[in-house]
Amino acid sequence: MWCFYEHPELQFADILTPGSMPPLRNKARFVAIPSTSGTASEITAFSVITDTDNHIKYPIVAADMVPDIAILDPALPQTMPPHITANTGMDVLAHAIEAVASTAATSFTDPYAIEAIRLVLANLELAYREPDNATARLNMHNASALAGMAFTNASLGLVHSLAHKIGGEFGVTHGLANAILLPYVIRFNRQFSDKYALVEKQLEIPDLAEAVEMLNRQLNIPHTFRLCDEVPFDEAHFSQVLSRMSQNAHADPCTWTNPGQPSVADVRSLYEAAFYGRQQTMATV
Ligand SMILES: [Zn+2]
Repeated sequence: MWCFYEHPELQFADILTPGSMPPLRNKARFVAIPSTSGTASEITAFSVITDTDNHIKYPIVAADMVPDIAILDPALPQTMPPHITANTGMDVLAHAIEAVASTAATSFTDPYAIEAIRLVLANLELAYREPDNATARLNMHNASALAGMAFTNASLGLVHSLAHKIGGEFGVTHGLANAILLPYVIRFNRQFSDKYALVEKQLEIPDLAEAVEMLNRQLNIPHTFRLCDEVPFDEAHFSQVLSRMSQNAHADPCTWTNPGQPSVADVRSLYEAAFYGRQQTMATV
């Protein structure tokens, strides 16, 4: 909205390529006040637009879109219903874990990301179970912004690539798709990255994928898309769109910073694993 207000002559396709956003702040400034503890749009260069005709979500990345002022008031997310607390909170965890594993992660982004992981693991279930718990809400709001500071600099990975495209196709909520995908992508990526082991060591967690699965169970999030009842996940529909969805997810900008340079076939088998609940750990060459 801000971009097209500043540059009414532009079309959506004109801003899709990273680096193509023209300078903003000619007519307006951007003060962002988040109402969920999830996207961290209040401090990042990322946003997502859904093309509802073609069932595809486009991440838009532009440094100029980082708001001028962010106001973090935990009284606002306090009114979120439990399932939105769960889904947005798992989006925070996905941001933090993907920022750590990103090939663009640095010593400047890791501390924010790892602290965000610690805060989510310690507070999300509490915020879900006790919506009025002000401490849990504050910690989740801070975790969201911290994870945002990490991923706006380090970018993300396959969890987000796959979530963008399955969300565009089936309409599943972004955070819920991330929550289901996270354990599968962590186990797949481990063969290319020792960063999960670093997180486990620093936070004294035996197995990060298992910790995510346990949190999902506590938040009543299913472990496969097939068992997800938020939107219809018809098996025939899934098979029909799998190839196109895999190619689109592979081309998503978030794939660029995933460790191990995954192939379209890897993306496809990750989708199948997360749809049916199969374990999938080996990369295809
Ligand atoms: Zn996200």
